[in-house]
Amino acid sequence: MSSFDVLVIGAGPAGLAAAILAQQAGATTALLAPRLEARDRRTVAMLGVSVDILKQAGIFAAVEGVSAPMRTMRLVDSTRRLIRAPLVEFHASEIGREVFGYNIPHAALVSALEQAATAIGVERIDGVAASIEPDLDAVTVVTGAGDTITARLLGAADGRRSPGREAAGIGVRSWSYPQSALVVNTAHALPHDDVSTEFHTETGPFTLVPLPGLHSAVVCVERPAEAERLMGLSDDALAAEFERRSHFLLGAIRIDGPRQVFPLTGLAARKFAARRIALIGEAAHVFPPIGAQGLNLGLRDAAVFANVIAGHLADPGSAAALSAYDRGRTGDVFTRTAGVDALNRTLLTSFLPVQAARGIGLFAMDRLPALKRAAMRRALAPHL
Ligand SMILES: Cc1cc2nc3c(=O)[nH]c(=O)nc-3n(C[C@H](O)[C@H](O)[C@H](O)COP(=O)(O)OP(=O)(O)OC[C@H]3O[C@@H](n4cnc5c(N)ncnc54)[C@H](O)[C@@H]3O)c2cc1C
Repeated sequence: MSSFDVLVIGAGPAGLAAAILAQQAGATTALLAPRLEARDRRTVAMLGVSVDILKQAGIFAAVEGVSAPMRTMRLVDSTRRLIRAPLVEFHASEIGREVFGYNIPHAALVSALEQAATAIGVERIDGVAASIEPDLDAVTVVTGAGDTITARLLGAADGRRSPGREAAGIGVRSWSYPQSALVVNTAHALPHDDVSTEFHTETGPFTLVPLPGLHSAVVCVERPAEAERLMGLSDDALAAEFERRSHFLLGAIRIDGPRQVFPLTGLAARKFAARRIALIGEAAHVFPPIGAQGLNLGLRDAAVFANVIAGHLADPGSAAALSAYDRGRTGDVFTRTAGVDALNRTLLTSFLPVQAARGIGLFAMDRLPALKRAAMRRALAPHL
C-alpha cells in the first residue's frame, strides 16, 4: 500500500497540470491513469491566465514552438437573417497585451505536461482506478492491478464519466445540442495574421484558429447529418466547402490531416468537492467547443486546487479545504457554462427578439470601447 497527501486520477491535460501544481505546492502527489498513445490531432486555444498557469507548471517553453499566438479575435455574422450582428474584432493590444493566448496542439501539450510531472517528482502510477472509497481521514483507491493507494485528497480529473465524481456522490446536470463539431487541420495560401476568425451561422460557429505558418485548425459546428456529410467528402471537396464558408479569407485551402467528429454535449457538476474528492476538468464541466472555454476552465481548476492545497497542507482533504475549493470554482464555472450555452442557443434560435439582442450586444461592444475592454478582460479571467 502507498500513501500520499494528494492522488490525482486522470492524465488528461487538466489532471497532469493539477498534479504538477499540487506537488509544487508542497504536497506529496501521485497520478494514476492508463498510459495512452497521444493520437489526438485537435488543438486547444489557451487564453490569458491559462498561459500563465502553463508557465508556472514549467511547460510553456516546450510547446511555444509548435503553437501559434492569437492576437485578434474576429466575429463575423454569416447568417442570412433579418437582423445581423456587425463584424467585431477584438485586438489584444486594446487591453495592453501582446496576445490573447496560444493555440497549442493537444498531443504536444499532454506530452510536455507528462515530462514535467516526472521531472518534478510526481509519482506516476500506470493503471486505472477500479474502486474509490472515501472515508473520514483518507480516500482509498484500488487499482485494476489490485494495488492500494491512500491519499488525504483525491483530485478527480478522470473525464466526463468520472468514477471519482460518482464516489463523491456528486450529481450532474447534462444536456446535448443538435450539433456535432468536425475538427481538422488545414494549410492555406494566405496568412492568418494571428487572427482567429469565428463565422456565426444558423447551425453553429465555423472557426479558423491559427497554427504556425500557413496553417489553421478548423472547428466546424454543424447539424449531425451535415457533419456526417462533410466527413464523407473527398479532401478536395471538403477544402472547397471550407473556402466557401470562410468567404476565401485564407485563399485556397488544403486539408492537412485526419478529421474527427465530436457530438456536442454539456455537463455541469452540482458541486465541485465532497468526501475528500475535488472535481477537476471535464469531471466537473463539459463544454461544446465554442468560445474556447473547456480546458481553460480545467487549468483554472488545477490552479485553484493547488492554491487550496498550499493553504491546507496539514490536511488538504479537510472539510475547510473542500469548501474553499467549491467556493473558488462555483462562480467561474457557472458563468462560463451559462455564457457558452447562451451564445450557442442564440445562434440556433429563429426567434427574432433573441437574434436582435445578440446583434445589439455585439453592436454596443463594437461602439463602446470600455464595454469591449471589460468583456475582453473578463474572457481572459485575470482575477486568478
Ligand atoms: C473539438 C474540441 C475542441 C476543443 N477546443 C478547445 C479549446 O480551443 N480550448 C479549450 O480550452 N478547450 C477546448 N476543448 C475542450 C478540451 O479539449 C477539454 O476540456 C480537455 O481536453 C479535457 O481535459 P481533461 O483533462 O479534463 O479530461 P480528459 O482529457 O478526458 O482526461 C481524462 C483522463 O482520465 C483518465 N481516466 C478515466 N477514467 C479513469 C479511471 N477509472 N482510472 C484512471 N484514469 C481514468 C483517462 O484515461 C484520461 O487520462 C475542445 C474540445 C473539443 C471536443
